[in-house]
Amino acid sequence: MNLLSKRYYSSARLLFVSLLFILLLFILLSLLFYQRLQQAQNIVSTVAEQAVPSVLEASKVDDQVKELNLQSELLRNAISQAARAQAYQKIGQIIIQIGSLDHQRYVQHQYQQQRLQLIADEAFSLNSLITERLVLQQRSRQWLVKLDKLQAESLMLAQKPANQRWVLHYAGLLRDTTALFSIDRLYNLRQASKELSPVLAENQQLLTTLAAPEQAVASELFRQLDSAFNADDGLLALRQAELGNIARATGKANFLRSLVTDYASETELNAYQSAASLMELSQQSSAALIRHNQLGILLAVMAILLLLAIMYYTQKRVIQRLKILNQKVQAGAGFDDDGRLFSSNDEIADIARSFTQYSKTVAAQQTALERQSLTDGLTGIANRRHFDSQLQSSVAMAKRMKQPLAMILLDVDHFKAYNDSYGHLAGDDTLKAIADTLAASLQRKIDLVARYGGEEFACILPNTHPEQAHIMAEQLRLDVMALELPHQASPTVNLVTISLGVAGLLPGQDLNEKVLLNQADKALYQAKQQGRNCSVLLSI
Ligand code: GH3
Ligand code: MG
Ligand code: MG
Repeated sequence: MNLLSKRYYSSARLLFVSLLFILLLFILLSLLFYQRLQQAQNIVSTVAEQAVPSVLEASKVDDQVKELNLQSELLRNAISQAARAQAYQKIGQIIIQIGSLDHQRYVQHQYQQQRLQLIADEAFSLNSLITERLVLQQRSRQWLVKLDKLQAESLMLAQKPANQRWVLHYAGLLRDTTALFSIDRLYNLRQASKELSPVLAENQQLLTTLAAPEQAVASELFRQLDSAFNADDGLLALRQAELGNIARATGKANFLRSLVTDYASETELNAYQSAASLMELSQQSSAALIRHNQLGILLAVMAILLLLAIMYYTQKRVIQRLKILNQKVQAGAGFDDDGRLFSSNDEIADIARSFTQYSKTVAAQQTALERQSLTDGLTGIANRRHFDSQLQSSVAMAKRMKQPLAMILLDVDHFKAYNDSYGHLAGDDTLKAIADTLAASLQRKIDLVARYGGEEFACILPNTHPEQAHIMAEQLRLDVMALELPHQASPTVNLVTISLGVAGLLPGQDLNEKVLLNQADKALYQAKQQGRNCSVLLSI
């Protein structure tokens, strides 16, 4: 399996990027909702702070306007200076109150203030007109009192029959002049005054018919009547002025009323426009809110789907593979054979590869260690430990298989002397040479040659009869001699030689390895006793 040929990708980075993406989605969602909440809050506060107060204020303005109209009517129809002053004062107060109302904050402030000022100006001029009219009326009333007095005085003259015609004419003239006061149209007043002029001249004419002493009195009475009629501040002029004044006051009052009504309508309109624009704004905002909600839901669904995908991916591609990895690690097995771990060429596959490499290294090291622990360091053949365990299993096998088993224990002769004369290193070399020879001589795979300790060696020969083993022992002895390693210090021969003890189990014999080993040791001892460089078989 060529694992590295697949394109490498990182599960960790994929998870990280996915989570980052989800985080960004959630941040986006939060910002979206925060913004919408802010907008909704702004609208609610604008409605609370502007629209509602502005409508409330507009209704207050409306109340004030009604009062203003009432007071304007009272001012216009005032019959005394006191009533006029009171109405005008109230109008002033109402204008100040309207000006101070909060609605001014929400509508076109300056424009409305100007209109309010115009209303105040108009009220002022209406007040002036009414003041003037009341003065005119006052003066007219004075004239009427004067005319009453003239009538009383003229009646005194009627005691003389000669005067009666003039007095009668004068009384008619007085009545007609008084009647001028109740004419309420300027045209009619002019007509009436035109008609009265010849009558006045006629009365002057009739003065000549009066008796001499009374003529002077009557002339004075006539002069006063004439001035009431014709003087610049006479009754006729006053009435004319008053009628003009009434016409102007009516126009002024109507204008004032329309100004006030306009002001109220404007205020109301402004308030409702402001409320309507806020309503529109809130409708737009709620429509946007719905759109944003849909977008938010879409984003949330995307985030949830992505999360589910990540969970599925993590379960399938990460957790399951980590479990397999863990099981394999615990079992101490390699992973080369498990395709699931390499289904993605990612970090987990990397770890699996590293573990495979690691477990192979460990296994190799273990084998080497085992081999080392069973091998003799100097000669490279099996060591005492290996020999002991092999002997035990070989004895058990032989007994089970009912086969013979032989063992040879051998010792280098006069080796101490050899060391003494050739040195320890040469002694080592000799031991290696003997080990090699022994190993080469025993060619069966099942045979074992081991270094038993020091300059002693041992052989296990499974399925070998003791006599056969004795022959083999002799062969070994000869093979060592054949090396012709000189040994000057040996009292036996001048070559390196070995002595061998052979012992064996016969098929069916129930003995343990200790007995076998002992017997072989005894045989070796006997070989030494017999002069060395020989082999002895001791049967059990
Ligand atoms: P014998 O013929 O009675 O066996 O006499 P021997 O001198 O061989 O016996 P002894 O037990 O007196 O001496 C054994 C010597 O073997 C002593 C020791 O220095 C030597 N020897 C043991 N192990 C080693 C080894 O690994 N290397 C070397 N060079 N010498 C060893
Ligand atoms: Mg020895
Ligand atoms: Mg020896």
